[in-house]
Amino acid sequence: MAGMKVLDVYRLLPRTNCRKCGMVCMAFASALLTGKAKPEDCPPLVEEEKYAEAYQKLKEAFGDKGEREATGLSIDRDKCDGCGICAAVCEISLEKSQELANGKGSRRIESPVIAIVDGLITIKNPDACRRVVPDAPTCNACVDLCPMKALTFL
Ligand code: SF4
Ligand code: SF4
Ligand code: SF4
Repeated sequence: MAGMKVLDVYRLLPRTNCRKCGMVCMAFASALLTGKAKPEDCPPLVEEEKYAEAYQKLKEAFGDKGEREATGLSIDRDKCDGCGICAAVCEISLEKSQELANGKGSRRIESPVIAIVDGLITIKNPDACRRVVPDAPTCNACVDLCPMKALTFL
């Protein structure tokens, strides 16, 4: 489900604008994509059988929400163009393979913190991020160097 855009997410929502989540459905779709909401924050999705399939798809798509919370990294997939700069400047990922520094692609290494999957940034190993490891130096490299401003820290 990587690569979902806001309209793809919106189409999976009930689209009733009931505001039980505190906003309208389109805003909720955007909040899911940026990690500010999770599928279970929409009560109709959870409670109504007719949305069960859509709810399952959304849980699969946003199953890394916990990982994003762990690193504090919020991803706006509508802005990300998959350039890979964030993965290439992540020192922790570089330590795991120089192939990444040589521009050979982050999918070749075992456990980078972040990687490009299906053309979009994905958090692969949140526990290794400097923002999670106790006493590690502060790091904002991926956020600061993303040319599309697709990353923020929550
Ligand atoms: S609770 Fe669900 S259905 Fe209601 S507005 Fe929010 S996203 Fe839409
Ligand atoms: S640097 Fe930004 S635009 Fe490029 S892959 Fe990373 S998040 Fe996406
Ligand atoms: S904050 Fe630093 S260590 Fe964490 S993913 Fe970004 S560049 Fe890598």
